[in-house]
Amino acid sequence: MMPHRNSWRVWLRRLTQGGFLLLFLILFLQARYMPVNQTGRHVKLFFLFDPLVLAASWLSSHQVASGLLLSLVTIGGTILFGRWFCGWVCPFGALHHLLTGLRKQKAKQKMLTDGYSPWQKTKYYVLATLLVASLFGLNLTGWLDPFSLLYRSTAIVLYPTGSDGVKSLFGWIYQVDPGIAKLRLTAVSEPVYSFLSRTILPSTDIYFCGIVLIAILFAAVILLNLYRARFWCRYICPLGAMLGTAGKNPLIQIKRNEDLCNNCRLCVVDCQGGADPDVPDGWKPSECFYCYNCESACPHQAISFGLHVPASKSASTPAPLRWLLHFVRAPRQQKLDLGRRSLVIAGSAGLGTVLLARASAQGKGHTWNPALIRPPGSVAEDEFLGKCIRCGECMKVCPTNALQPALTEGGFAGLWTPVLNMKLGYCEYECNLCSQVCPTQAIGTNALEQKQQIRIGTAFFDRNRCLPWALARTCIVCEEHCPTPKKAIWLQEVQVTTPEGASLTVKQPHVNPDLCIGCGVCQNKCPLTDQRGVYVTSVGETRNPGNQALLGGSEG
Ligand code: SF4
Ligand code: SF4
Ligand code: SF4
Repeated sequence: MMPHRNSWRVWLRRLTQGGFLLLFLILFLQARYMPVNQTGRHVKLFFLFDPLVLAASWLSSHQVASGLLLSLVTIGGTILFGRWFCGWVCPFGALHHLLTGLRKQKAKQKMLTDGYSPWQKTKYYVLATLLVASLFGLNLTGWLDPFSLLYRSTAIVLYPTGSDGVKSLFGWIYQVDPGIAKLRLTAVSEPVYSFLSRTILPSTDIYFCGIVLIAILFAAVILLNLYRARFWCRYICPLGAMLGTAGKNPLIQIKRNEDLCNNCRLCVVDCQGGADPDVPDGWKPSECFYCYNCESACPHQAISFGLHVPASKSASTPAPLRWLLHFVRAPRQQKLDLGRRSLVIAGSAGLGTVLLARASAQGKGHTWNPALIRPPGSVAEDEFLGKCIRCGECMKVCPTNALQPALTEGGFAGLWTPVLNMKLGYCEYECNLCSQVCPTQAIGTNALEQKQQIRIGTAFFDRNRCLPWALARTCIVCEEHCPTPKKAIWLQEVQVTTPEGASLTVKQPHVNPDLCIGCGVCQNKCPLTDQRGVYVTSVGETRNPGNQALLGGSEG
């Protein structure tokens, strides 16, 4: 077997993929509370170039965050030049490409398995299901959109566990300091740790609820690369399907020199997309990532890529017109034949999912879950579910770790959307980062002064738990932490009699519902850590006139 040539295009592609993966990580790490309440809106850049997010939010909410229009560049580029985005830009694709390299299978085996499989059509049906569901108002694309999946898994699984590991390692070095003679390891480890703390590590310990499910799904998606090259991209990715549909008839096409080809099929062994570069007239542009591995693998240089100028019956037809005709009339072998019946089944699955979600009490909007506390500035719940892509940007950036991926709080349709958990954190009064980073404006952008007026819920005292109420003990922690300019917690001095018969003055706290914004710092700081003496529920939230604490509101 002759060695690979690894053409300059392969090296350029690797470099570009690595660059975009690095950019993804840099933007990820920049999504944090800097010394000021500002992260830079560029941290959501990848999502803005994602046409799946654009299509799904437009279909489900009939609105589009203006930044998402950038994704038209991706679609336009794909129509002209094919699915280059998957092979050169997508960081999730780069990760799969990298991990595919760990696959230990003999070349002969790969020749048998790695050609095109009809199962690769599955991703188009996944796309159809998601888009039909979006059309009927249920946007579930975030479950499988590659950027959302990657960001969510990194933010909720890899980042907390990785940070914890790093902190534990440096903590261990600090305590044990296994130096050599007088050389102390901490002389190096402490400056490194302080640098990491300033730049990469979270300022507090972070935890996320429901991490196991997200971790299992991420691990499964990654491990499937050991079974088939870029399994996710070939069989599941709905964005890949969208780009495959757009790029089914590109201007850059494979050129095979049949005279040089001896059918060794080495190009199939390295083909990442199952695009069949070895089959005469059978190459499938909708599956090709333009990785140029086939060109590079061919020992006889029988494969190359180049501008495809379609032939014309009339020699006088100019090239631009022939290109135009080429987009209108795709050659037969390049048609993407998905089968009408299968598409109808996929669409029906989308509709069925919508009906199922709507049939629940939550879907009918009749029950307001007290734990469903959305970030400040969130749009009304129906619209929120149409816009939120469960990317986890807001959860990553939340400085107090209050934002958590919902499990059951938002019903089936709300899985992994953000909810505030006031036991873990609280909504920081001086912060509106979640609205700055949300790519779809599910959390609308509001200036800090406006955000400070938004009510996300209301606090209530549990008089059976609160120390001054239940045990006649002095405690004003909640009142001290309440951040509103005029405190939403007020204290009333009352005389109580102790079990010993002594008379005692205690200050019993009350909430002023007109001033409380539901930020939850009172709940978070309450010294009764197992079950707090004060708690916040969603009632009174500004975004929902049907969920009000005071008379006048009605259940929707
Ligand atoms: S198929 Fe999906 S995950 Fe794979 S590279 Fe393309 S967009 Fe990214
Ligand atoms: S609300 Fe959070 S999870 Fe949903 S789209 Fe916005 S940033 Fe992503
Ligand atoms: S939730 Fe608690 S701390 Fe926040 S405004 Fe209301 S009473 Fe004050």
